[in-house]
Amino acid sequence: MRPGWTWLSDALDVPFLVVDNKRDIRHINKHAQALFSLDKKRVKGFAGKSLLAITRNKQLDEIAKKAIRSGQAGPISIIIRSTKDRTYEVRAVSSGSDSSSLVALFFSDLTDIEHLRTVRTDFVANVSHELRTPLASIRALAETLNYGAINDPVMSERFLGTIIKEVDRLVRLSEDLLLLTRAESTVRSLGHFDLRDVVQDVYDRLASVADRRGVHYKLSLPESYVFICADYSELDQVVFNLIDNGIKYTSQGGSVHVTCAQVGQDATLSIADTGIGMLVEDTERIFERFWRADRARKMVNDQGSTTSGTGLGLSIVKHIVEANMGTITVKSELGVGSTFTVRLPISEPEPYAVDPDPKDE
Ligand code: ADP
Repeated sequence: MRPGWTWLSDALDVPFLVVDNKRDIRHINKHAQALFSLDKKRVKGFAGKSLLAITRNKQLDEIAKKAIRSGQAGPISIIIRSTKDRTYEVRAVSSGSDSSSLVALFFSDLTDIEHLRTVRTDFVANVSHELRTPLASIRALAETLNYGAINDPVMSERFLGTIIKEVDRLVRLSEDLLLLTRAESTVRSLGHFDLRDVVQDVYDRLASVADRRGVHYKLSLPESYVFICADYSELDQVVFNLIDNGIKYTSQGGSVHVTCAQVGQDATLSIADTGIGMLVEDTERIFERFWRADRARKMVNDQGSTTSGTGLGLSIVKHIVEANMGTITVKSELGVGSTFTVRLPISEPEPYAVDPDPKDE
């Protein structure tokens, strides 16, 4: 390829190669050089070398061979293990069938699409697992009742109670899945509001839960406004999930302290509890969907049953916070407690335009 065209092939922003009908390199753009970790200083030396020697990739050589024979070939999927594993789709197109014809190799980077595919498959597998467990339990209990346990008042009351709990778990799961889907969408209705209003409102709604659990509950709000620009109902969800977790993972006699403040150009919200806490390696996983620490799974609530949870609450929180230009951090110590801190940019509303006094006109 003439040197004048190099800028155009580099501007393609994806790896691109041209070989002749002996599969010797005629042109290799800078992205292809980077992909195959080729030394820039030796660029001139690439021309005339064989495709196989330069790329050490048999699949590429085969697809070029096929295009020389039949005009075009591919697409094929190849994984290049250079710095990070990346997946490419490659197509080969030949300029003709005579001995002077050339073959162009076009690369499309599929790494992100492949990653999304894996995330989706894992997600579906997790959802089906989470659905199967309560459904299997409901079926087994209903079957036992059907085989005669229904006539035993003690047994039937116990079994029906468990069925109701399992159904509640399924309802919570479907609600959380819906919230997660909404949090992942890009549609949000932004508005200016005082973060103190949301915090006060959620705090009041959960006061009776803290009271029932025997958890000391405290709120500290600043005297002046803490304006942010965000989606009000999403922020409500963030504050709710974090305070709810604080209460849920704190035993009787412990405390949950909610603080809202303005620190520099940030609105901060922190929820500090003296609950079960977490190991450092746990804090690295809590924002993953469906992840729950063993201690959280085994924790017993005030009714003597294990603490319920879907493992989706914090992924919903993280998605919403980041979509609203914020950050969330956690500090925790096993058996001592946890503090979750959310930071969001302060955003003063525009002052209302004041109508000129008609007398002045
Ligand atoms: P869950 O429905 O299980 O509460 P979350 O996504 O809200 O799901 O939290 C994920 C996990 O993070 C919990 O199962 C628990 O192990 C841990 N976790 C969250 N908040 C706290 C907290 N305040 N104290 C201790 N562990 C917590």
